Amino acid sequence: MHPLLYPPGSVVLLLGNEAIARGAIEAGLGFAAAYPGTPSTEILESLTDVAEHYGFHVEWSANEKVAFESAYAASLCGVRSLTAMKHVGLNVAADALMSSAYTGVEAGFLIVSAEDPDMWSSQNEQDNRYYGLHAYIPVFEAYSPWEAKELVKYAFNFSEKFKHPVIFRSTTRVSHSSGPVKFDAVPSVKSSGRFVKDPDRFALMPAHARKLRVKLIEKWRSICEEVNYSPFNKYIDNGSRKLIICCGTGYGYLMDCLKILGVEGKVNVLKISTSVPAPRRLIMDALGRCDEALVVEELEPILERDVKAMAFEEGVKCRIHGKDFIPLIGELNIDKLIHGVAKFMDVPVPSNFLNPLKLSIEIPARPPTLCAGCPHRASFLELKWALAKSGVRDVVYAGDIGCYSLGVDEPFRVQDIILEMGGGIGSANGLAHVSNQFVVAIMGDSTFYHACIPALINSVYNKSPMLIMVLDNRITAMTGHQPHPGSGFTATGAKTEEVKIEDIARGVGVRYVDTIDPFNVKDSIERLMKAIKFVLENRAVALVNSRRACTLMVVSNARRKGVSVPRYAVDADLCRACGICYNQLSCPAITPMPDKKANIDPLLCFGCSVCMQICPFNAIKPLETPSKDWEEVWRVD
Ligand code: SF4
Ligand code: SF4
Repeated sequence: MHPLLYPPGSVVLLLGNEAIARGAIEAGLGFAAAYPGTPSTEILESLTDVAEHYGFHVEWSANEKVAFESAYAASLCGVRSLTAMKHVGLNVAADALMSSAYTGVEAGFLIVSAEDPDMWSSQNEQDNRYYGLHAYIPVFEAYSPWEAKELVKYAFNFSEKFKHPVIFRSTTRVSHSSGPVKFDAVPSVKSSGRFVKDPDRFALMPAHARKLRVKLIEKWRSICEEVNYSPFNKYIDNGSRKLIICCGTGYGYLMDCLKILGVEGKVNVLKISTSVPAPRRLIMDALGRCDEALVVEELEPILERDVKAMAFEEGVKCRIHGKDFIPLIGELNIDKLIHGVAKFMDVPVPSNFLNPLKLSIEIPARPPTLCAGCPHRASFLELKWALAKSGVRDVVYAGDIGCYSLGVDEPFRVQDIILEMGGGIGSANGLAHVSNQFVVAIMGDSTFYHACIPALINSVYNKSPMLIMVLDNRITAMTGHQPHPGSGFTATGAKTEEVKIEDIARGVGVRYVDTIDPFNVKDSIERLMKAIKFVLENRAVALVNSRRACTLMVVSNARRKGVSVPRYAVDADLCRACGICYNQLSCPAITPMPDKKANIDPLLCFGCSVCMQICPFNAIKPLETPSKDWEEVWRVD
């Protein structure tokens, strides 16, 4: 049984993101929309699995802005709604976010921002509590999966009470840790409603917006008062003259640190559930009883600054510490926090935290790499060979965010700039107009739909000479195979229209559009050379869609259908140790032997056949003839 389907009263081990999803279901969720991004993806994924059972609508949107707008509009119709995204996704949705605070909402509307301190899979570690401050939207934070579920329900009610959007901030350690969660009843779901017209409120013309801003500030004052009464705030009074104020993940780590340091009952602790806005009366009350305070929060000193400002305004004589004791960069954990807490409590750090375990052996670096048989690897090789054969040497590659970002490393080096989702074509446009280099923009299919289309239109409009190469593996692969508008099916697996990249390109005026199969190496190189020639001769945009399904998806489909995956092997007698297969293609299944001849690990080979096609000495052969079924499985389109 799916974990989110257990009956009320069950205690289920849930991932933090599943707990957030369960909280939304128990709050009467009627509509959910998201764009995948680590560490947020499992929220919508788990909602998708149970949407039919509970009767709410769920969708993967083309990007976070669309997801936000869709969920916002559903809320205006009286349907409780959720949108979820990774922290940088909120940048994409920021325009809508800022305006939604002015109009407010009707039914509860929760914006889940899952953040990535330490940048495990992100380009920055921005702290989206600043968006809450910026937009006048409260930000709720939990420290565990259990609290996440309960706080999500509270946040939905809070949103509905004030008819105002709320942000639920999670971080990697909450989203991706597991814990026991007790289930409550699920109310009957309201998944349809009616939009009641009120242009003075919902049509943000300047004359309306000016009045709404006044109302927003009034509402914010009420919200600032209400957050003092959150049942998720907790004050532990140990009669000490020292106080630690914390929020989010900081609370769990802090309680462990106090135990390890043996100072559990020797300091007062104030845990709060909203750092934006901070519960002023609670904080002032606690500060008034101490001489020294420490603020524990992950990333930016948002709460710390607020606490210092409050103390200054109220003339409270209390020395307040924060980022002078607690790291500003990266995730909090016990190893990091214990030093700051020990310093604050004036106790020694236990010796096992002073000398981290050192290994006596060197562990070789294991950089991330594209999978064996990945079509992107073939596309990169073909692109580089086509450029070389065309005599184009001075090339700059404007890259993008996805699996293909791994093309940044050797042997490909085809990602010179990676700025943000959809940034490739825009950057290429600037490069094309001011540099003499040949410009290539590279992006994936999901990224193309997400944010590349306006930039594509711009490049046609402004006559920007560039080769655009879309690496179309038919799915949002990097986050775990979520469908997108080109996949031909929806979040729940229902068949739908396939929005074709080539049709979009032709529709916006790209004159050279082609589709290649990267597993047909010779043909792909020839057609890429034609595209390069077109760019050079016409000083215009050419778009080549390199289309082959993600290998991991294909192999898992093959295993499910009982289709055997053909393996390839090197004939050592024919191999001349030229190294082309392992140096230029660099498939992880191929390694050089001590005599520099190639060897294929049959357990890693996924049967793409590209190495066979590029070996100049015909030294690579399939161990068995690939079956018709195997070709069928590869062609998921
Ligand atoms: S066929 Fe060759 S390139 Fe493809 S996965 Fe196997 S070893 Fe790698
Ligand atoms: S490309 Fe062919 S000849 Fe060269 S190392 Fe690989 S298997 Fe051997």
